[in-house]
Amino acid sequence: MSRKVAIIPGSFDPITNGHIDIIERSSKIFDEIIVAILINPDKKYLFSIEERVEMIETALKNLQSINNVRVESFSGLLVNYAKKVKSSVIVRGLRAVSDFEYEMQLTAMNKTLDDNIETFYMMTNTKYSFVSSSIVKGVSGFGADLTKLVPKNVAEKLEKKLKEE
Ligand code: ADP
Repeated sequence: MSRKVAIIPGSFDPITNGHIDIIERSSKIFDEIIVAILINPDKKYLFSIEERVEMIETALKNLQSINNVRVESFSGLLVNYAKKVKSSVIVRGLRAVSDFEYEMQLTAMNKTLDDNIETFYMMTNTKYSFVSSSIVKGVSGFGADLTKLVPKNVAEKLEKKLKEE
């Protein structure tokens, strides 16, 4: 049987414990996981692509329990990227009903563009259901303990970045 490669796409600006939970659980189901950061020149991000790749790689290295995940970035259509890396599986996380409508549109669009691609949804661990990159950025910089929300290396980077700004 061929190796099953799954892609977890997103902005990861920055990666949170909610993302890590989805990555960790998916890595036990699929042979290989690619965390794929979308390069979208129209969007404004707090962290550069290079910083986001580094933050995810360091967070995963610190975990040690995972060794079948790699981090990449891509631009353009996700279905084209999937073809390039020989994957037909996308994994996304679902936090709340409010995520559902957008995710349904996204999946329908990808399915229209390439019928071979299957998208799998994983329910978030309830302790992370309120965690999003934007909410984390919102509470950063006020001295709050961020380590319940993001990996330690990300918390440090966030503090540093917000001091620079
Ligand atoms: P996007 O810009 O594509 O929404 P994100 O980086 O915000 O990218 O999220 C990537 C994926 O991770 C999405 O499927 C999103 O629903 C999921 N996700 C985000 N936060 C969490 C969380 N706390 N728990 C589980 N999944 C999450």
